[in-house]
Amino acid sequence: MTVNELVQLKQEVNNTPPPLSPQISQLHISPTLKTLEIAHNLRELGHEVISWGLGENPLPRPACLTKRMIDFIEDKRYTSTSGFAGLAEKIAQKESIGPYKISKENVVIATGVKQVLFNLQMCFGGEILHVVPYWVSYSEQTTALGKKVKEIHTKQENRFKLTPEDLLEACRDTTPRLLIFNAPTNPTGLMYNREELKALASTIEALNLIVASDEIYLDCCYDTSPASIAEYLPNQTIRLRGLSKEYSCGGDRIGYATFPSTLSWFSNAMHTLGSSQYSCAPVVQQHALERVTEEGPELEKYKQQARLIFKLLGKRCAEKFREIGLHCETPEAAWYVWIDFTPYQKKLPVKTNTDLCTYILEKTGLLFVSGSSFGMPEDKLYLRGSFVDFNGQDAMSTVHDEYSSFSPWADRILNSIDTLGRFLRSL
Ligand code: PLP
Repeated sequence: MTVNELVQLKQEVNNTPPPLSPQISQLHISPTLKTLEIAHNLRELGHEVISWGLGENPLPRPACLTKRMIDFIEDKRYTSTSGFAGLAEKIAQKESIGPYKISKENVVIATGVKQVLFNLQMCFGGEILHVVPYWVSYSEQTTALGKKVKEIHTKQENRFKLTPEDLLEACRDTTPRLLIFNAPTNPTGLMYNREELKALASTIEALNLIVASDEIYLDCCYDTSPASIAEYLPNQTIRLRGLSKEYSCGGDRIGYATFPSTLSWFSNAMHTLGSSQYSCAPVVQQHALERVTEEGPELEKYKQQARLIFKLLGKRCAEKFREIGLHCETPEAAWYVWIDFTPYQKKLPVKTNTDLCTYILEKTGLLFVSGSSFGMPEDKLYLRGSFVDFNGQDAMSTVHDEYSSFSPWADRILNSIDTLGRFLRSL
């Protein structure tokens, strides 16, 4: 080969697309994580940005979890996907509720619920059901995996909750199906009550579906006794829990799944896959998880105060969004508000929720996440807001009862809704 031929060959290689798999080429950076980057870049340029984007709990981590990790900082062993000896047993006890009985063999610990979900969707051979609006990563994961998915679009009049009728409509044959079910729900911030869960469970039982119940926000419910669908569907439910949200440990990367003995085949597959994929969850964080299974007054007090902070702020934010003419339900869990800009549709110079998101950011400095990131059609003008742009330590020092002040810790967030209101009225 001559030098010229080599140069030409190199140019051809440079011009061909990189050899990515077709599924991976279709992926997007998680839109919620991307908001972090956008906010950072805009702030670098000197712009004021109020981030309603990433759903990260801003409260400090409970001191007893930090202490447990420090106490075991020298632990550096590999463990199995069941964690160190004795941990799976403790999780099995914690997550067994009523008729939902778990044995230690059916506990899988991973590096967060995100990874548990990825592996569940990878292991399952049938059709996967996603409920729209869904948490962004469900669909990115199935795209990455090249999986067959059916999207079930919930209705506004049902407050975007899944109903038995929606399920019956979606499942018209006996294909094996895995339903990814998220309660409390991100992005709506709403929770299913016991009656709704019971009704869904009996339909799911009749349809013979398996449910992966993503309960990452369960203890973030403002109501202190939220139910899991597992209580009504004990033989068909995989519960997914973690420390990221309830204990504000997002970066610690630990989460787990529990399976009833009827689904041992599924948990076995998860252990097998995990052993070749991530080996084990980070071992120091496994000690924090063990501390969580021990419960006790310190963690209970922490969760109570966290619930109070988010309940008060969520209620106030939703009221303020309604005061400025938007549709927004008062959230029932976590830190999400699901805001409908339809009342301003005629005045807004945009047709899609993606454009709406950019427009609002440019005009007001408020950074939301577009509804389409959660599977909503583009012409529905929904944005998700996370009311977490505050100093968690300040909130914990200020909020002790229903009458606690929002000032100064939540001023920035609440004032930003006034800014949005002024802008919308000026249209
Ligand atoms: N499930 C839902 C509904 C979420 O909103 C999130 C994070 O935002 C996760 C799972 C991820 O949890 P983890 O941090 O344990 O991976």
